Parts: sequence; C-alpha cells; structure tokens
Amino acid sequence: MKRDCLCLEQFAQTIYKKCECCGRVRDNFFRLNVKDARTKSMIVGSFDLCKECGQNFGDILKVPISTERTVDDFSFE
Ligand SMILES: [Zn+2]
Repeated sequence: MKRDCLCLEQFAQTIYKKCECCGRVRDNFFRLNVKDARTKSMIVGSFDLCKECGQNFGDILKVPISTERTVDDFSFE
C-alpha cells in the first residue's frame, strides 16, 4: 500500500459538516489528502472526516492520531 500517498491532517478548528466517509453531519476533525500515486507530490483530492472516521483511518494507515487539545487552547472562564 502506498501509504505516503494518503496524508491525514488535523484541523486547528473543527468544521461542522457532513463527514465524507460515514455521511453523518457532525464535527469534522480531519482531512485526508490524497496524492497522485505516481508523482507523490500533487494532491488530487481530499476527504473531510469526523473524529471516528479520522481515527479509523489513522488505525488503517498506522499514523498516530490525537484529538486532544493542546494546552494553548484551554481557556479559563
Ligand atoms: Zn465519519
């Protein structure tokens, strides 16, 4: 499997929309960028993914996924 042609990136802020994997409308946490298999440079498309699907793809692609917020994102109100 050409794993390096699939690049999972995490959004800085979640986007509320339809997940392009499971089709449910919910917060999308991840984007799976699909690169051209021959050149491995050009991005040919992408899928926006909800938390569960992003983590599932993380498991499939064996890349570590974290949806934990960094300390900078915490606010004390
Ligand atoms: Zn999903």
